[in-house]
Amino acid sequence: MSEFSLTRTTTPTSEAARKAALADPGFGRYYVDHQVVVDYIEGDGWQEPRVIPMSDWALHPAAAVLHYGQEIFEGLKAYRRDDDSIWLFRPDRNAARFVHSAERMAMAPLPEQLFLDSVTELVKLEKDWVPVSENEQSLYIRPFMIASEPYLGVREANTYRFAVIATPAGPYYSEPVKLWITPNYTRAAPGGTGTAKCGGNYASSLIATREAAANGCGQVLWTDGAERKWVEECGTMNIMFVTADGELLTPGLGSILAGVTRESILTLASEHGLKPVERPITIDEVLDGVASGQIPEVFACGTAAVVTPITGFNSPDRGVQQVGDGQPGVKTREIRQHLVDIQYGRADDLFGWLRQVV
Ligand SMILES: *Cc1c(COP(=O)(O)O)cnc(C)c1O
Repeated sequence: MSEFSLTRTTTPTSEAARKAALADPGFGRYYVDHQVVVDYIEGDGWQEPRVIPMSDWALHPAAAVLHYGQEIFEGLKAYRRDDDSIWLFRPDRNAARFVHSAERMAMAPLPEQLFLDSVTELVKLEKDWVPVSENEQSLYIRPFMIASEPYLGVREANTYRFAVIATPAGPYYSEPVKLWITPNYTRAAPGGTGTAKCGGNYASSLIATREAAANGCGQVLWTDGAERKWVEECGTMNIMFVTADGELLTPGLGSILAGVTRESILTLASEHGLKPVERPITIDEVLDGVASGQIPEVFACGTAAVVTPITGFNSPDRGVQQVGDGQPGVKTREIRQHLVDIQYGRADDLFGWLRQVV
């Protein structure tokens, strides 16, 4: 366990104000009173981890992140159980992915234990900010890292800052969405940054989300960057198809983001009578399958919404197509409930996914 110095805020949120915030937290509206900060200096390594009051940072205007975009992040949640214990879901997977993202962006890899200790330290200190389990509320934790060195030449930075902040997340109703198959944009190219959780991937995706909205859809279905033929993922989530012959089908890893939710759902598939299958899938196979009934259910998955039912597609070639009867499917709802029940300790954690913090 790393040692953290603690500088307490002199202006803590009052209990009344926190209660008011937790009564309707929304998402990203309120932040806990402290943040974890760990700086890295090339040649000197990771500096003393610090817990400091939540506040603005001073950053030199030449800081490399502001110009060349060396930035990566993670997202995970802390869940409060009915007995008031607090748990994290597979944080080791986020820690490992953070190293992968750092390596792809030529940033200093943060030791996995330091990632886990930083998250644990903040959640322990701010445990009162973890909402009650009712309506699937949670504390959303955002670890991230930037290149902090002031230097305008283009090269790897020599200093980095890792930090952890957290925001209470209210009930996240997984509203069904339709997906727009964009003819104009891709999110990942062979050899590109598709497998890294980096801010740049999101910056380049926003215009496609705008295009999706203009075409009556809530999210984008991304195809591959080389042929525009293969299904990759959806918006900021991985995508899964339930087939009529009992498969849970999803694109294999390669240029997509390796979601923790994706991996977990593939593991649970057999308990729902589905055979997990990872293989390349073409857009035509999906749209033909949806039209014929071979693919009766489609859903997207990720930490924020857990599982989001996909009830339709729209594309320039084939227009609007409805999935099944346009309602969230039975397996989709079953799998979502199962995963959420594991996260809140209401279903057996057969795979040892949960880690107690408080
Ligand atoms: C974070 C993310 C996901 C989902 O990953 P989880 O670990 O399940 O939250 C999927 N796709 C993209 C592009 C992401 O950034």
